[in-house]
Amino acid sequence: MSSLYSINYHLRAHKRDTFIEFIKSLLLTPFVLNTRPGADDDFADPAASADSLMDADAPAAGAVSPSVARYLEVLGCIEDLIQDHILHSDNGSRATSYSVLMEARPDSGVPELSRLSSLVPSIGRFFTSLPLRTAFLEQNAARSIAGRRSVPPSFNDIRHILNFAQIRAIAPTLKLITFDGDMTLYADGADFARDSQLVQLLLSLLRARIHVAIVTAAGYGSDPTRYEGRLSGLLEGFRVSDLDNDSLSQFYVLGGNYLFRYDPRTHHLVYIPEETYQTESVRRWSTATSRIKKILDVAESHLTKRAREMHLTHRITILRKDRAVGVYCKPGEKLTREQLDELALSTQQRIHHMQHLQLHENLQRSGLLPTEVASGASTPILGKRLSVTAVTGAAAAPVELPIPFCAFNGGSDVWVDIGNKLIGVGMLQEMLGCAGRETLHVGDQFLSTGNDIATRRACCTTWITSPEETAQVLTQLTDLLRKRPAVDGPDRRPLGAGK
Ligand SMILES: [Mg+2]
Repeated sequence: MSSLYSINYHLRAHKRDTFIEFIKSLLLTPFVLNTRPGADDDFADPAASADSLMDADAPAAGAVSPSVARYLEVLGCIEDLIQDHILHSDNGSRATSYSVLMEARPDSGVPELSRLSSLVPSIGRFFTSLPLRTAFLEQNAARSIAGRRSVPPSFNDIRHILNFAQIRAIAPTLKLITFDGDMTLYADGADFARDSQLVQLLLSLLRARIHVAIVTAAGYGSDPTRYEGRLSGLLEGFRVSDLDNDSLSQFYVLGGNYLFRYDPRTHHLVYIPEETYQTESVRRWSTATSRIKKILDVAESHLTKRAREMHLTHRITILRKDRAVGVYCKPGEKLTREQLDELALSTQQRIHHMQHLQLHENLQRSGLLPTEVASGASTPILGKRLSVTAVTGAAAAPVELPIPFCAFNGGSDVWVDIGNKLIGVGMLQEMLGCAGRETLHVGDQFLSTGNDIATRRACCTTWITSPEETAQVLTQLTDLLRKRPAVDGPDRRPLGAGK
């Protein structure tokens, strides 16, 4: 039974988000309590207005109906678990409001010891606390979550609650917002429309002196022409806007490994050479051309083999680029999500396997691998990042670590890119001096076959599913920015402040 469970779990893991599934399971309890026989009176709302409740940091249980109060109690518990996880995660190297508490905690910097880690072992990092109760009241007003008796809280209900909680939490400190391109700012493969409501919303962010960057997997080299074509509607909005040059200069495009900045004098994107911002650790692997070629060779050969085994060869084209290899459909053809996921997941596994074997050999050659591991007598340390870092850190000469890559389902195609969005967002953070709690990434691909998920290790994230949802999120965010006090000099100002 256990092996069957394990197989089922792994077969479905790429379609699930473990934290959302965890919250979903907890919210089934209030749903069942609210639907028990005789619960009719629980749905009557008390006199308190939804607006006044939402403005409160922690809505009082007595101010809402019993049906809502049950959900709030569970969400309050999750807020506490997140806060505890933050305290366990932080190593105290940054000055935060929790520094005093952390100094007193011997387990700071060990997130594995948090209560949330024991409940959701794959849980990642949180850069801010999340006001889930306030976000629930907001979403409940729009989605009737507590008032439903036949349909329990869904994946999408919880995704929206998390998104709006994150927006509320980050608004006071936001300095950098990064966006995925396809399905986040425009439809898959489409251009940024001139009449898109997102043009004005992005201008509002720039007006508040927030750095805005589009971080997209679409790589067209160092020539900005193709990006300018795809972003023509947005760039036209910039050109006719009344925004000052300093604000407009805070717009960037990072396409693949190529960074561009908007020049308000010429109204064009200007390429920024990577030598000017690339860190030493990134340069070390990004210039290793023979290793990169080997990864792409393996990816191309694996994709060709899997396509043949799935009888897809006549329906697809495989395209090799400098730092990527992709599979896309021939005209008139379309692959199912399952076919695309299969190509992406199996290629991920193939490259991970190859790189881990290489690392194992390197460590053995350097004499850094403990005998029992090198002989296969115990579980290999490969794949356990901390152990590898600790071992390689002791080496006299640098040991070649695996090269970051991303094999993902792009919605209608599959790509294997060298580097990933974690590297891209991290590089922008480094260049612009923005910490994780000051950075928000907005994207649509947060499952394990997606290319936005890697950013969760660097910053706060918001998981949307369409440009319309991006607009909803930004409308709320710009409202909150309007209320942000004018602090920190010229780099931050509330919306509506003069030039
Ligand atoms: Mg996308």
